[in-house]
Amino acid sequence: MTPQHIVDVLLSRGWTAEIVDKSQVNDLVEVDSAGLFKCVDGRLSDHPGMRGPKVLGGVYGIAATRQVMDLAGLGNIVDEVAQAGYVPSVHGDQHAHPAPMGCGFFKLWSLGELPGLEAPSYDSEQGQSQVLGAGGVYETLEGDHSESKVMINLVAGTTLEPKTDQRFVVDAWVTGVFDLDVPTYLTLAAETVERLNGPKVAQLIVG
Ligand code: ZN
Repeated sequence: MTPQHIVDVLLSRGWTAEIVDKSQVNDLVEVDSAGLFKCVDGRLSDHPGMRGPKVLGGVYGIAATRQVMDLAGLGNIVDEVAQAGYVPSVHGDQHAHPAPMGCGFFKLWSLGELPGLEAPSYDSEQGQSQVLGAGGVYETLEGDHSESKVMINLVAGTTLEPKTDQRFVVDAWVTGVFDLDVPTYLTLAAETVERLNGPKVAQLIVG
């Protein structure tokens, strides 16, 4: 999909979307090896490693896009992400019960609320335990959602760090690293934002 094709799809879903060059995004940073391979959720974290790729639900985004539904498969994906040089993670928040249901993407997936995608065979606490057992990280996100836009970043090896002025960060270049079907992944991203009543406002970063 070209950036313009992605814009056109978003416009057809009732979003506003524009393409911006990376030179116009002054807080775009290179990913580093201490950064979590973490959720697109814009809230601040209790973990210091924020310069890793932002993916739907962290490692859950790979599992869901590939329709890997079981714990063993999840563990394999944690290994795969670590082998690729990233720090695999999932998250919860301070409000949800159980806490790992605080990931909006996992919650929608696990409740079978994402069109065309069956729920995984495990719950949020089993998923958290599997990720930790395979050497991954669990982070707790702070406070409430207040994202004002969705950054869809196509510049390989770069990301945006969470900040108080929240935005969803979808490092879509990750689809290339993990051979994910791009339309499937981006449709899941759009559905997730829409079902969380997030902002239907996107900026695509190219460069
Ligand atoms: Zn999440």
